[in-house]
Amino acid sequence: MTALPKATEKRLGLVIDLDTCVGCQACVTACKGWNDQGAGLSDQDAYGANPSGTFLNRVHSYEVAVPDAPSQIVNFPRSCLHCEDAPCVTVCPTGASYKRAEDGIVLVNEDACIGCGLCAWACPYGAREMDADQGVMKKCTLCVDRIYNETLPEEDREPACVRTCPTNARHFGDFADPDSNVSLLVAARGGYDLMPGMGTKPTNKYLPPRKKGPGDASPLAPLLDIKATGISGWLDRMLGKI
Ligand code: SF4
Ligand code: SF4
Ligand code: SF4
Repeated sequence: MTALPKATEKRLGLVIDLDTCVGCQACVTACKGWNDQGAGLSDQDAYGANPSGTFLNRVHSYEVAVPDAPSQIVNFPRSCLHCEDAPCVTVCPTGASYKRAEDGIVLVNEDACIGCGLCAWACPYGAREMDADQGVMKKCTLCVDRIYNETLPEEDREPACVRTCPTNARHFGDFADPDSNVSLLVAARGGYDLMPGMGTKPTNKYLPPRKKGPGDASPLAPLLDIKATGISGWLDRMLGKI
């Protein structure tokens, strides 16, 4: 078992806007490209009939059947949420999984990882990826090697996925600061937690699709209440099947 810090100075994380994500996969490619350095992220049978590989960020696209209206596409980016009460950390037998006290980022020390896979079982979001070639666990690092990297121009010191997203659907900042860009976005748009009932207290937040047009004119309106029956509940159920 590995201990979590009692509190963290910052709570760095992402806001992901389900209204403007178009499912282009640019963030997936940018993430893979940036993190495929050093030991990298292995792929298997990459150009064969059954390709698979290690990705720290994935985007799933769903066609949603809407009552009395055409079906809609919802694109759902998925990566580590850097939870405050991260079960992937407390379950780790070697201390390889840990949460940083200074900024709340959850990381894996690959030198201490024995590849037991317990953290992947503990994560309710399917956010951990066992690297099949290297036998160690990988996950989103929030591009910790970019955000503090003084050799990069200041505008590049944010996660590769955020820097790349062409629709500005991804935002990076400190949730511990109520005046930060991410805190203000969550307050203005009703940002919410995935699977709040799991008690993991995710740092990352999702913004629901906007109601477009007057009143509840959006064809997605019946799905928009942010309760177990709304789109977040639906996403939670989809996550449970991934
Ligand atoms: Fe969505 Fe942006 Fe990722 Fe494209 S790059 S899939 S718009 S979050
Ligand atoms: Fe751990 Fe999963 Fe939460 Fe990330 S999303 S901190 S891997 S429980
Ligand atoms: Fe810890 Fe590695 Fe086992 Fe995950 S796979 S619980 S990081 S030792």
